Amino acid sequence: MSDLFAASVATAATGLAAYACQPHLSRGRRFIEPEAPTRNLFQRDRDRIVHSTAFRRLVYKTQVFLNHEGDLFRTRLTHSLEVAQLARSMARTLGLHEDLVEAIALAHDLGHTPFGHAGQDALNEVMRAQRADAADPEGAGFEHNLQSLRVVDTLERCYPDFDGLNLTFETREGVLKHCSLRNAQRLEALRPNDVGARFIEKTAPSLEAQLCNLADEIAYNAHDVDDGVRSGLIDFEQLQAVPLIAEHAEAACRAHPGLSGRRLLAETIRRMLTAQVYDVMRHTQSQINAAGVETVADVRAHGRDLVGFTPDMRAASTALKQFLFANLYRHPQVSEKTTIARQVVVDLFHAYRDDPRAMDTTAPAASSPTRTIADYIAGMTDRFAIREHARLTGQQVFELALS
Ligand code: MG
Repeated sequence: MSDLFAASVATAATGLAAYACQPHLSRGRRFIEPEAPTRNLFQRDRDRIVHSTAFRRLVYKTQVFLNHEGDLFRTRLTHSLEVAQLARSMARTLGLHEDLVEAIALAHDLGHTPFGHAGQDALNEVMRAQRADAADPEGAGFEHNLQSLRVVDTLERCYPDFDGLNLTFETREGVLKHCSLRNAQRLEALRPNDVGARFIEKTAPSLEAQLCNLADEIAYNAHDVDDGVRSGLIDFEQLQAVPLIAEHAEAACRAHPGLSGRRLLAETIRRMLTAQVYDVMRHTQSQINAAGVETVADVRAHGRDLVGFTPDMRAASTALKQFLFANLYRHPQVSEKTTIARQVVVDLFHAYRDDPRAMDTTAPAASSPTRTIADYIAGMTDRFAIREHARLTGQQVFELALS
């Protein structure tokens, strides 16, 4: 680790790397505001995100396991905190801007529906089926990355002079990590030369945005192993078929003979996380050096992501992800809940479409009646959605001990 450590010390001595985003060079906010006396622009973005309503709701939103299934599983909130922790650690060593990385990481999942991907898929399907809204300037369907941007740009309403949180371009760019060409063109038509442009021009986002993207993947692979075993849906023996897990479990046992149970699982995951984080930092630094990237403009113009795993670690991470898909995300017990969760979202959508007054919202109407409904449902926590579903349909679909 000595080369990385030396890089970290050098960065600490000289400040940020030349290719880091710097607040004083930010492309700024949509609405001009006086600067805060003691906080830089990215710190202020992070603070606005932490104080937002959507951020507080993350604590009751599903990551993989439905929120009420256990108190120890990750929620969107604890997932976001783990992403921020991993991204900040790597940012510090790479000389990237930690405050920006933290802001992006904490905001990256703000647009998620209740019930994780099951909720998003269901909402997307019912929105796409609304032919009458084909001309909706928000586009067709529902997509959580776009919704995260919509939350920070429009849906949060706590400032006197503007809708949204009025975040900097750099934070918003990181929040919109994926975008279809069609949606990018639509965003550009509404606001030219903004965060949609890179998906049309095929330029890269900042290194800070790239780093958060990878930290997200590292975090969920690791914590889904932990939650998967904790839930009993997968077991540690089964996981030995995944080379990345087997390698670190073996190393943990060599270093601590007799280690077993939760401690062995935790030590294995810790070692795997460490290996992945060092792999990313080393490989990214060497890619930056090889590309001759010196400024943020160089990073963007490079076009391809410079933050990444080595090919070997990429393959190992993909194998783990495939294992989790086959054995956890598609586990019959998870699928059973997923089916119910989808139905809750579909039923809610139809109930509000038939009677919009059933929505308890003071938000101004969105671009179309169904977009208003999608915003309302997407903002719900799991438990609020379940309660609303019971109120509107008379059905108790999940056996809940909700207070
Ligand atoms: Mg995430």
